[in-house]
Amino acid sequence: MTHPLLDLPPLTAAHFAAIERRVADLLATEQDVVIMQGEALLPLEGCIRGGAGAGSTALNIVTGPYGQTFGNWLRDCGADVVDLAVPFHTAVTAEQVAQSLAARPEIDFVSLVHAEAATGNTNPVAEIGEAVRAHGALFMLDAVASVGAEPLLPDAWGVDLCVIGAQKAMGGPAGVSAVSVSGRAWERIAANPKAPRHSYLSLLDWKTRWIDGGRKALLHAPAQLEMLALEACLERIEAEGLDSLMARHASAAAATRAGALALGGGLEPYVHDAREAAPVATTLRAPEGVDASVLVERALAADPSLPLIAGGGALSKEMIRVNHYGVDATRGSVLSSLAALGAALDGAGRTTDPEAARKAVSETWPGN
Ligand SMILES: *Cc1c(COP(=O)(O)O)cnc(C)c1O
Repeated sequence: MTHPLLDLPPLTAAHFAAIERRVADLLATEQDVVIMQGEALLPLEGCIRGGAGAGSTALNIVTGPYGQTFGNWLRDCGADVVDLAVPFHTAVTAEQVAQSLAARPEIDFVSLVHAEAATGNTNPVAEIGEAVRAHGALFMLDAVASVGAEPLLPDAWGVDLCVIGAQKAMGGPAGVSAVSVSGRAWERIAANPKAPRHSYLSLLDWKTRWIDGGRKALLHAPAQLEMLALEACLERIEAEGLDSLMARHASAAAATRAGALALGGGLEPYVHDAREAAPVATTLRAPEGVDASVLVERALAADPSLPLIAGGGALSKEMIRVNHYGVDATRGSVLSSLAALGAALDGAGRTTDPEAARKAVSETWPGN
């Protein structure tokens, strides 16, 4: 008996190349795109181990937990690391980046997370890119949480290595990911004797064997189901229109923020300045004396399908994440999430105004 997920013909090189082309179109990039056969941490680690190493000095910008991970990889591969960390409730500014670069002229690699789903902030990449370009360093961007949710223009912004995953705003699979690689980045990686070669982490393997070979032969059997899911997700985005997808995320974020403020009960946006709040997800600070993870547990007990989760690690007591991305970037999802948080807050002895929250959402995100 055949099964829709099984018994498929192998994914051909031509089909793989066509999916790659569509990813390049989504990113409006002329650079090479490599689709890595694993979750986005695979190309992120591959970029760092390929682009940096002993002898490099890296500026690692930390605006959330992923930046901390990058710093650890950079140190592990022998780079001298300058950490520029800002509080997780803010974004980094281009001025701060420019100052860090000016203080250490030898910096030749910069890593930055565009938007942080885990903390709910987003960084001004266009302006930061100008500072990095003026300095001449290689620029790596983690755009997993921004792609599909807000403008992402790696070529225009001078990003040399732009990593995306489909599992957030794109509403796609988590098991494959992609990276655009500039000519400068290829040169740097090729010149790095410690860059991964003959390895699952290797970008160079894809360059020499796949791209330079005219995209005729794949390195190994690809993650076929994930590739088909990525293609379906790109088709769905093309049908909706990228602008419309981004507008849904911007509206979801603005409505969640306004609704949470109107709900009251001590709930507050975690990211202080609305301009620094990421469209992909909205983080909220639990009221004093209320444990965020308990609050989220109560809200999910009422409706387990809501896109709510407590902050990770040390943030679990204070932060609530409303993951209004992908299929959850809807007014309905925002309204239900706020209603459930309101009921959970009432249960914790706080007074909320659910009607005011509904009104704030409708006013911020008008429609039917
Ligand atoms: C989600 C995300 C990733 C991918 O990590 P997962 O936890 O495996 O989903 C990488 N970087 C950023 C900034 C993300 O938000």
